[in-house]
Amino acid sequence: KKRVVIIGAGHGGVQAASTLREEGFEGEIIMISDELDAPYQKPPLSKGYLQGKQNAQAILFRSENYYNDNAIDLKLGVRVAKIDSEKNEINLSDGAVIAYNYLIIATGACNRRLRFNGHIAEKVYYLRNFSDAKMIEEKINPASHIVIIGGGFIGLELAALAVEKNKKVTVIETEDRLMKRVLPETLSKVFYETHVAHGVEMILGVSVVDIIDGKKIKLSDGNEIDADLILAGIGVIVESELTENSEVLFNNGIVVNPFQQTNIENIYAIGDCANHYNPFAKKSLRLESVQNAVDQAKVAAAHIVERPFEYNTVPWFWTNQYHLKLQMAGISFGFDEAIIRQSPKPECFSVYYFKEEKLIGVDSLNRPADHLNARKLLTAGISPSKMEVADFEFNLSGLLK
Ligand code: FAD
Repeated sequence: KKRVVIIGAGHGGVQAASTLREEGFEGEIIMISDELDAPYQKPPLSKGYLQGKQNAQAILFRSENYYNDNAIDLKLGVRVAKIDSEKNEINLSDGAVIAYNYLIIATGACNRRLRFNGHIAEKVYYLRNFSDAKMIEEKINPASHIVIIGGGFIGLELAALAVEKNKKVTVIETEDRLMKRVLPETLSKVFYETHVAHGVEMILGVSVVDIIDGKKIKLSDGNEIDADLILAGIGVIVESELTENSEVLFNNGIVVNPFQQTNIENIYAIGDCANHYNPFAKKSLRLESVQNAVDQAKVAAAHIVERPFEYNTVPWFWTNQYHLKLQMAGISFGFDEAIIRQSPKPECFSVYYFKEEKLIGVDSLNRPADHLNARKLLTAGISPSKMEVADFEFNLSGLLK
């Protein structure tokens, strides 16, 4: 019998194991996670879970029995230390050695940490996994002033939930507007105004130059801020540690082909850690999203069961802050024109991005139907005209028929 070993039991890992079974793979599946918790979903950590609306049970991927019932040998709390692609073996941190026929690397990414004068700043808390969430939950409750460094998705979701817990919240962002890397100005502005209306103090265009004892923050403009708790969300990196002494090619992530294979044909990489050529972005990149991890897992599993297809799915993502639900489809960078489709309701609109007259992405604010429709249009390669998009009465889903 063949054996698939999966490193990581996050969105990609769990999906790969499930798809293998759904596709009839009858060999062994071993899934190894360095976390102690049963596999859970990450997006709710900075949403429902820390808001207190979803408990630990509610965010699990599968029921407790699922892994046993499906003959998925889940090993928790042990790290894969090394890959030996010559011998087709991996080495675990507890000294065990496991052989594989196929290896799927689904190790995700790590938080980038704040460093000053070459040292990692102490007593700054980051959110990536469930144990981080539990730690933050503990720290948030007694704190009255929370400072969040980073005005990206995670930082802003944390800001929104901290305000809802009646905390004084300050957000510090180096760029001159929120979520600048991924959103156009119109949308940054809506989020900025909403946060400010909820009482968040926004400090934009300023960097943190030092943090003293997790309590005092020194800013590039000379100001200082005192905090009870400092949280940071300043992006992620993929560490090369696992592949360093192996033959697996690493370049800003593990380099893969459209079947998620690395340069070693029986080793696959999926999700946050995979540097792939994305047909929608028209370049090689890593995507940090549930969609990407789940869909790449399906591609890798299909290749293993010899029903291969190439990764070619419209990227999508979402963020929830207060009553604002933003959903993104496609990849909008490099757009040359953005058209707003405004519904009659305030704060309910979508932005359609065009490049050379072709629709490349759509961001929908409180417009879930636009989002679903956009994914279908982008998947089908159908481009409405800019006039059709701007006319709220025009039925865009009619174009799909
Ligand atoms: P992960 O789900 O991160 O899983 C990787 C696993 O591998 C981890 O458990 C890790 O500990 C383990 N691991 C790493 N190295 C080893 C090793 N050597 N040995 C054993 N195990 C190892 N995406 C969205 O689309 N929408 C959202 O709203 C959204 N919100 C998010 C909110 C938060 C707080 C976070 C942290 C992420 C969010 N994301 C969101 C991103 C999304 O969760 C990730 O893109 C997704 O989890 C990637 O899946 P993955 O399988 O690649 O990695």
